[in-house]
Amino acid sequence: MASVKEEREARAEAVRRVEREKPALEFGSAWEYSPAPESRDHVRLDERYGLFIGGKFVAPKSRKYFATINPATEEKLADVAEAGAADVDAAVRAAEDAYRKRWSRLKPADRGKYVYRIARILQEKSRELAIIESMDGGKPIKESRDVDVPLVVAHFFYHAGWADKLEYAFPRHAVSPIGVCGQIIPWNFPLLMAAWKIAPAISCGNTVVLKPAETTPLTAMALAKVCEEADLPPGVVNIVTGAGETGAALVNHPRVNKIAFTGSTDVGKIIQRATAGTGKRLTLELGGKAANIVFEDAAIDQAVEGIINGIYFNQGHVCCAGSRLLVQESIADTLLQKLSDRIATLRMGDPLDKNTDVGAINSKMQLDKIRELVACGVEEGAELHQSSCAIPSKGYWFPPSFFTGVAQSHRIAREEIFGPVLSVMTFRTPEEAVEKANNIPYGLSAGVWTDKGSKIFKITSKMRAGVVWANTFNKFDPSSPFGGYKESGFGREGGVHGLRAYVELS
Ligand code: NAP
Ligand code: MG
Repeated sequence: MASVKEEREARAEAVRRVEREKPALEFGSAWEYSPAPESRDHVRLDERYGLFIGGKFVAPKSRKYFATINPATEEKLADVAEAGAADVDAAVRAAEDAYRKRWSRLKPADRGKYVYRIARILQEKSRELAIIESMDGGKPIKESRDVDVPLVVAHFFYHAGWADKLEYAFPRHAVSPIGVCGQIIPWNFPLLMAAWKIAPAISCGNTVVLKPAETTPLTAMALAKVCEEADLPPGVVNIVTGAGETGAALVNHPRVNKIAFTGSTDVGKIIQRATAGTGKRLTLELGGKAANIVFEDAAIDQAVEGIINGIYFNQGHVCCAGSRLLVQESIADTLLQKLSDRIATLRMGDPLDKNTDVGAINSKMQLDKIRELVACGVEEGAELHQSSCAIPSKGYWFPPSFFTGVAQSHRIAREEIFGPVLSVMTFRTPEEAVEKANNIPYGLSAGVWTDKGSKIFKITSKMRAGVVWANTFNKFDPSSPFGGYKESGFGREGGVHGLRAYVELS
């Protein structure tokens, strides 16, 4: 019989043998995740979508359709109608009819009930909506599931609550709706932008014609179905898919009372010229080139996470992306090393995979634009640093990147790249930081990272940006107004300020 000592020795030897025979792990492989794709089995897409006019899906008078694709695989998802001028006219007339005969006569509390109903149905369909958003636009499911769709639902709930309380939002005024609102939205937050537009408009008693972006029409179509399911009176929400010409036809339609546009500054300027002198109300949410300022007293690891969140998640397709990093010279080396290490851990790939951090670029056109500006940055003498992550063979991809050695005059420091590319500059004093942050034609958002509350107040009060985040970045709430200064547009969306764009006061 073996003694206790021998038994113990035999067990220890067995453990040592297992350790010896275990295959060596590649560095980092312990941290690899197995694929975890979100199932798309329950998502039903139609082969072909008509236009949503007067409460029904109708074939376009133009008889034209175009394909919408999945930018991560280049596979076609569906055909979508291309609305011509006659279709836009039909949608505007349906909206006008609904406004006069039904919606503007409804008791505000009843209007609110419809909006609450839309919010609840959206909430029930959250998972399906998130998957469609990721398939059509390329954003990671973790973004569409945890950011976009919850905010969409929150916007409808928030505005439903205002429907019968508008006289409290604007005390000492008689409040009335404007009429038919034409709303044009971009591709980076397709369903969220639709919610930002539709929820306040209809809660205030207006009716709408919405034009989604060409590359991301599918969640707008899903929203049309939600309006049907909620029994929303026909014509209160109309959705016309199409290209820039469809948007232009809406802008120029004489029976539209207000235009709300979110998109590029160039198109915003065209719209401003087109509406000048027509009496149409106008709000513009345009481009941005936000400065994210990190002071030497900031919590550096948190700041690095904020920088990553600000520019790489959603592939930098964010108007308020923190695309310029201003870092205090004394901590620049440390911070850039940490940033570089962190970028190396970001996972780029299948947007439907729950572990994906960086998804696909929305379209070939956008990818070409990013490549052109990055090439220009290299040509102008800045130094490019890029993650060496694997790039899928199909689809549109751009690895998380940053530039150092950037001068304020470089195009990459002044123009919106709208991709996962950060331009890093340094500063020595708070005055220099503010000066550099504001030295740009845009003024949409900014970020400040510091341990000192007094510094936050001092710096933020000098920033010419509509939203300034302190020790965080890219945080949204329906009750908090969002909008720009200078070439980033005018008017606010969200909160009481956002309601103002959809009411007449007397
Ligand atoms: P975009 O080219 O200006 O397009 C925006 C929308 O306008 C799309 O639906 C587009 O249709 C339509 N459009 C194009 N030409 C038009 C015209 N002449 N008249 C009327 N409508 C027209 O912008 P994008 O490239 O889709 O979006 C990216 C831009 O949006 C970025 O600059 C970003 O900063 C900005 N953005 C701003 C905010 C904000 O809140 N400030 C939010 C999100 C995005 P097509 O899709 O068919 O071209
Ligand atoms: Mg698409």
